[in-house]
Amino acid sequence: MNITNDKVTEYLHGLYTPLTTELGALRESAEKDNVPIILKETESFLNVYLRSLKPKAILEIGTAVGYSASFFKEVCKDAKVVTIEKFLDKAEVAKKNISDLGYDITVLTGDGEEVINDMADELFDFVFIDAAKSHYTRFLDAAMKHLSSDGVIVADNVLFKARTVSDEYDPSGKYKTNIKNLRSFIEYIMDHPKLDSAVLSVGDGLSISVLRSIDE
Ligand code: SAM
Repeated sequence: MNITNDKVTEYLHGLYTPLTTELGALRESAEKDNVPIILKETESFLNVYLRSLKPKAILEIGTAVGYSASFFKEVCKDAKVVTIEKFLDKAEVAKKNISDLGYDITVLTGDGEEVINDMADELFDFVFIDAAKSHYTRFLDAAMKHLSSDGVIVADNVLFKARTVSDEYDPSGKYKTNIKNLRSFIEYIMDHPKLDSAVLSVGDGLSISVLRSIDE
């Protein structure tokens, strides 16, 4: 289920154009293989948002086939892009796709939190969380230690096909744990003393968090 009316989603998809033919082909092949990558309307929003934010260093948790990492690099050509994928086989596929597209992106392998905790003092000004939904809070905590003072953390799929909003969208209870953890993630960022956050009904739901300024 889409979190907005299906006609709205269809309309929004009709407005979408891939940034390059090659990215369009990678999206098509990921969608054909049922690899979950950022939705078209999420991409359209992030395209405009990143062009205005102009981050110099981007960190992503959840690489899959390397689609969103490649998209970030295409939009922010001068930015350093680092992406973390838990599984070696997926990371290898992503590396190949990224190299075929000619992008310079660092693909790290391992659990998002652990890899971030092992990083030196690197700072990022845009962090994109798009990995295991039950672990968003620990990814965010780890990423916050590497966030520049004007950095932004965006998490994807926080409304999880509206299941986060109501149990009626999970009638069998199959996604109970993910739902519980996404709800507590949203509470966590909304109540966090160091963050200002918003949840947007873009794509499958996006949260955006920024550090509160010290004098507030
Ligand atoms: N961001 C990608 C895109 O839009 O092209 C899609 C990422 S996909 C939704 C989520 C990925 O996160 C999967 O490839 C999965 O293997 C990976 N993942 C799951 N748990 C993880 C973890 N603990 N740390 C890092 N990556 C993880």
